[in-house]
Amino acid sequence: MDSLYIKINKILSFEKISPFILVAQGRIVKYNNAMIKRILLVCLFSVNVNALEIPKSQLSESLQEQKQGNEFLQSIWDTNQVVLDVEAQVYLKLLGNQLTKYSENPNKHFDFFMIDEDNINAFAGPYGYIGVHLGTLLRSDSESELAGVLAHEISHVTQNHLARFDEKTDKQSYIIAAGLLAAVLANNANASQAIVTSAVAGITQQNINFTREHEWEADRIGVKILSKSGFDPNGMAHFFEKLEDEPDAQEFLRSHPLSINRIAGAMRRSIQPDEGYRADSFDYTSIKARLYYHQHKRIKREENKDITIYMQAYEAFEKQKYGVAKNHIDQLLLINAHDASYILAGRIYSKLAKLDQAQQYFSHTKQGESSIYYAAKAYLDNQQTQLGIDLLKTYLKQHSGTYQSYKLLSLLYVENSQLDRAHIYNAEALVSQGRLRQGIGRYERAKTTTRSQDLIDVIDVKIERLEKLIDLYEGLL
Ligand SMILES: [Zn+2]
Repeated sequence: MDSLYIKINKILSFEKISPFILVAQGRIVKYNNAMIKRILLVCLFSVNVNALEIPKSQLSESLQEQKQGNEFLQSIWDTNQVVLDVEAQVYLKLLGNQLTKYSENPNKHFDFFMIDEDNINAFAGPYGYIGVHLGTLLRSDSESELAGVLAHEISHVTQNHLARFDEKTDKQSYIIAAGLLAAVLANNANASQAIVTSAVAGITQQNINFTREHEWEADRIGVKILSKSGFDPNGMAHFFEKLEDEPDAQEFLRSHPLSINRIAGAMRRSIQPDEGYRADSFDYTSIKARLYYHQHKRIKREENKDITIYMQAYEAFEKQKYGVAKNHIDQLLLINAHDASYILAGRIYSKLAKLDQAQQYFSHTKQGESSIYYAAKAYLDNQQTQLGIDLLKTYLKQHSGTYQSYKLLSLLYVENSQLDRAHIYNAEALVSQGRLRQGIGRYERAKTTTRSQDLIDVIDVKIERLEKLIDLYEGLL
C-alpha cells in the first residue's frame, strides 16, 4: 500500500502532469490534488501501474459514466424483477457479448439483464447496462429478432445517445431519469415513487425518448451488428413489424418511435441472400420454452421434437416427478447433446441422489457458469458442501459471476459452518448489484465473525477499495 501512495505522490510531483489532467477534463475548478490522487489510485488498482497511459480525455467521462452506471445498476435491482433463472441470465449476457464484439466500440463496458415483465420492452442505460423484458423474448419468433432488439440497444450505447441526452440536462436529473427509465419499465411500487421524484424534478417521459435521428442510427448500426455476427439482419425489421400491432409494446414504441419508413429502411438495409444465417440455438429455444412454462403453467406446443422432450422432462422435474423426468431426459440425451440438456439431466439425477452421474452430465458441458452453478448446487443438495465450494469458488476466481452464483457460494459456506466466508460472498453479491455501501456492511460483519488475521487483511483491502470508489463517485458530483 505504501508503495502505491509513494508512486502516486511521485506522479503528482511532476508539475506538467496534473495541469494536463485538469485541462483535459475541462473541469479546472472541480479537481484538486486530493481528488486527482484518488482518481489515480483507482486507476492503479483497477487497471495497471501505467495509469497515465489511459487517454486523459476519456478518464473523467468514463468515471462519470461508471458512477451513473452504478446508480442505474442499483435501480435495475431495486425493481426486484431481475429474472433469477441462472441459465436465462447467462444466456442473455453471452448473446449480448457476442453482439458487442461487432459493435462500433467493442471495448466498451456492457452488461445485460432479463427483466420479469410481460410486455415487449428493452432499455439502455449508462455504462452499457441493457435490460430486456421477458415479453420481448417470449414474443420473439427467432433468435435473430431477440438479437435485433439487443443490437439496437447496444447501438444507442456505442453511439453515445445517452451521453448526448446527458448534455441537455444536468447530472442530477439524468440520474433520476435513468432511475425512472428502469422503474417505469418495472412498473412497481418503487416506480411510482420514482415517477413522483421525477415529476418534482420536471422530467417528463418525453425527456428519456430517443430522437428520430437516434433511432435511425441505432437501426442502421444494429442491422450491421446482426449481419456481422451471423444473425439474419431481417430479424430487426421483422420484430418492428410485429410491434406495430402489439398493445403490449407501447412503452417501447414511446421511447423508440417507430415509423413505416423506419421499418422499410431496416428492411432495405438487410436485403441479402437468405442463406447461411445462424439457426436458433438450443439455449434460445429451451430458455424461451421454460420461461413460457413458468408464466403460463403449461408447456407451449412446439414442432421441434427435441424441445418437446426437453420440456416434458422439465415439467416432470418441476412437479418433483423425478423418475418420470429421468425417463424423458434419458430419451432426449440419445438425440440431443446440447449443454441445456446435460444441465437438466444433472439436475434431475441430483434430485434422485445419483450425484456421480449428475456430475458426469455437468462435466459433458462447456463448463459455463450455468453448468458450474447447478453442479455446485447438486453438491449442496447432496451434502457435499466442500466439493461445491471448491468448484464454484475456483470458477468465481477466474470469472466475474452473476449475483446468483455469489449467493449460492455464500449459502454453501453457511452449510459448511463458515459464516465469515458466507458474509464475504454475500458482500460480493451485493457489490455485483452495485450496492457498494451494503457490500462494505457485509464485509464488516465478516470481520466480526472471523478469527483469521489473514482473512481480516484481505477484507480490509476489499473495504478500502470500495470506500475509495465511493469517495471518487461522491467527488464527481
Ligand atoms: Zn431505440
